[in-house]
Amino acid sequence: MLSLPQEFLHKMAGLLGEDYPAFAASLAGTSCQGLRINTLRVSVGDFLSLSPWDLTPIPWCSTGFYYRESDRPGKHIYHFAGMYYIQEPSAMAVAEYVAPQPGEWVLDLAAAPGGKTTHLAALMGGKGLIVANEVHRGRAQVLAQNVERLGIPNVIVTNEQPQRLAQYFPRQFDRVLVDAPCSGEGMFRKNPAARGEWSPAHAFSCAERQLRILESVPGLLRPGGWFVYSTCTFSPEENEGVVSRFLAEHPDFYVEHVPRGSGVEPGRPDWVAGPEELARTVRFWPHRLAGEGHFIAVLRRREGTEPRRPSSEANRAKDYLDYRSVIENILSRVPQGRPVKVGHQLYLMPADTPELAGLKVIWPGLHVGTFKKDRFEPAHGLSRILRAEDVRRVVDFPCDAPQLARYLRGEALPWDGPDGWYLVAVNGFGLGWAKLVKGVLKNHLPKGLRQTSQY
Ligand code: SAM
Repeated sequence: MLSLPQEFLHKMAGLLGEDYPAFAASLAGTSCQGLRINTLRVSVGDFLSLSPWDLTPIPWCSTGFYYRESDRPGKHIYHFAGMYYIQEPSAMAVAEYVAPQPGEWVLDLAAAPGGKTTHLAALMGGKGLIVANEVHRGRAQVLAQNVERLGIPNVIVTNEQPQRLAQYFPRQFDRVLVDAPCSGEGMFRKNPAARGEWSPAHAFSCAERQLRILESVPGLLRPGGWFVYSTCTFSPEENEGVVSRFLAEHPDFYVEHVPRGSGVEPGRPDWVAGPEELARTVRFWPHRLAGEGHFIAVLRRREGTEPRRPSSEANRAKDYLDYRSVIENILSRVPQGRPVKVGHQLYLMPADTPELAGLKVIWPGLHVGTFKKDRFEPAHGLSRILRAEDVRRVVDFPCDAPQLARYLRGEALPWDGPDGWYLVAVNGFGLGWAKLVKGVLKNHLPKGLRQTSQY
């Protein structure tokens, strides 16, 4: 393991004073492990009754739980089924502070791999619009895979520079999250390699980059709305320093008062000679609570004239009829949304999505299926929002069924029943599709998702 940079320790000792020994001792300890239940798929109560592990609640997130390292939930079929997301515990506070409501428009500006996007979606109950943006294309694809795995119906994944999004959504979001690229000091325990990348110059260059990203927010956020800026680092030149510089340039924003749970500390205006309102930001410290550490600021925009949103009401009713006719022999409950055909692919976009032509869209919404020459094939993504009761035909296995392991490896299975599409499920939760033809269930799990190891 790499030791901690001396310059970093010296700086933290200067900042923390008598708290420093506890901080240094916490960095020598082990990291905390957490999973967050995906309530779009399963309620907390139902998951806890299915869970093979003894889980302990995380105080600041009602859907978050600590697990033990030996539990290895990332290897379980329930992870594959999108029933939870493995997430660092203090990172689970961020979406709670964004506090989006069902039906709102929310932008996650630096979203990959998707921990906070998937949390925001769960808090919104799948209702409203989330634009999840990621500047790095490869990471945007991982984000889209996580959105698909967790069965999130109302997310559009874009791969854009933040400034370009404002042309499409001028001051239209109710909430914006900037979970900024940072110097990652809160990752030192979890990922010792991050220690090698530390330098004072890196924290300063991260602060400049963060400020550039924040500069795009006024063009995106509606008056009266708020945005959350968060990092997983401790350095004041990022964090309080960045908020202070942003406020100085944008008098129509202020730091919102937010509740602080037990062990959560206020931000430190004195570290950057900034305005007193910086004390309303919050800091999660690894020596104060069970988490790796986070900084969170909720910045509210003063009220003003709200721009109108475009409406696409007329087209929606017509498209919806077309969509029902191709899917109702497979589904008994048809999901709502705005059907959009891209080539031969059918997607369901969140209901009020505006025109996005010209934007780099990696994931336009829920993938419903593909029009083939004389038939319609349901998409893998669709299977992830479905439960056994949503489909006409299902093959439902308990999680230890040997047939399930065979399905996950991509094998065909013998089965009795009428020919057609079957949802393959674990304990009622859709995993993927199979097509029954003359007593053989043909496997339609995407090749890239097939498992070589046994669960
Ligand atoms: N919110 C994510 C989650 O919860 O899974 C983690 C985001 S991570 C801390 C920061 C992200 O910002 C990275 O995915 C990085 O690629 C992206 N990023 C880097 N430079 C950026 C820029 N100039 N503008 C926007 N995002 C950027």
